[in-house]
Amino acid sequence: MHIADILARDTTGQGPSLSFEFFPPKTDAGWESLYRSIAEFAPLEPSFVSVTYGAGGSTRDNTHALVVRLKRETRLEPVPHLTCFGHTREEIAAILELYAANGVGNVLALRGDPPAGARILALGDFNHAADLVAFIRREGERLGVNGGRGFGIGVAGFPEGHPETPNTLRQLDHLKAKCDAGADYIVTQLFFDNHAFHDWRARCELAGIRSPIIAGIMPVTSGTGLKRMADLAAGTRFPAALLKAIARCRGDAEAIESAGIHWATEQCRDLLDSDIAGIHFYTLNKSDATRRIYKALGVKSLR
Ligand code: FAD
Repeated sequence: MHIADILARDTTGQGPSLSFEFFPPKTDAGWESLYRSIAEFAPLEPSFVSVTYGAGGSTRDNTHALVVRLKRETRLEPVPHLTCFGHTREEIAAILELYAANGVGNVLALRGDPPAGARILALGDFNHAADLVAFIRREGERLGVNGGRGFGIGVAGFPEGHPETPNTLRQLDHLKAKCDAGADYIVTQLFFDNHAFHDWRARCELAGIRSPIIAGIMPVTSGTGLKRMADLAAGTRFPAALLKAIARCRGDAEAIESAGIHWATEQCRDLLDSDIAGIHFYTLNKSDATRRIYKALGVKSLR
């Protein structure tokens, strides 16, 4: 189903869209655990599930395998992430053909990042995600995906800024260019400060960005996880109130998890009250935190 139809269905129904992100595991144990989580996630009836695409070569095939398997064996709607960094046009075209042949009708189009230490010059055939969006749009139509409408396309948004573009007005121009090139929706980088998100959403609107915005939420579940997030999502603000809540736990792992889930639940409650198009949960392949958020919100399914 085309993502535009999924989002329209959800926002005109009980709304909003609720979705989960998985990553392709590297070990047999990881795959077993992921499939257990997927079975636990299914009753929450996500609008779609996305699968990340690794910067390294080997996990890329795992992304394709997981997406195709989800499409064939479950009722979930898989959305593969696709990064263009270092890829040629032919390589991207081959991946899109594989998805089209397996009935996968939606893609999250990203630039990706160079491996640590690499020079930014060797981008491949695409310089920016907007170029990839335009290519996917054309290829999807050529391949007759979604009855000739082409692929449904998502792109990334950064409420607290992208480190490579300090000029925040220019950042919005770049985001708008992705929408103008054919993106159907935006899914954000994780954030903990809803004020920053609401302000950015208002600035997107002023910049003429009309694509639905899906908020990315990742609960803190451990002290080490918090540090990893700070590395992975450079520039993300950790509000003092969140850090105080974690500090009060004095290193107790269970207490930190509860405090982190409580914070994310409050974020979700506020977003649900704010007419949001959707919430995308960064799950790290585990269902516990997301299911606890649903429970605390008092819902079995949010749509
Ligand atoms: P772009 O939109 O190309 O932007 C990258 C930078 O270039 C920005 O600073 C932008 O302002 C600037 N820019 C854009 N256009 C121009 C222009 N015309 N001229 C000058 N500057 C320009 N990475 C992975 O490797 N795998 C994943 O699966 C993955 N999933 C992600 C999912 C989400 C929801 C998010 C938010 C990020 C994800 N990432 C993933 C990380 C992402 O690839 C990086 O953050 C990357 O640095 C930015 O990607 P982008 O698609 O936003 O790139």
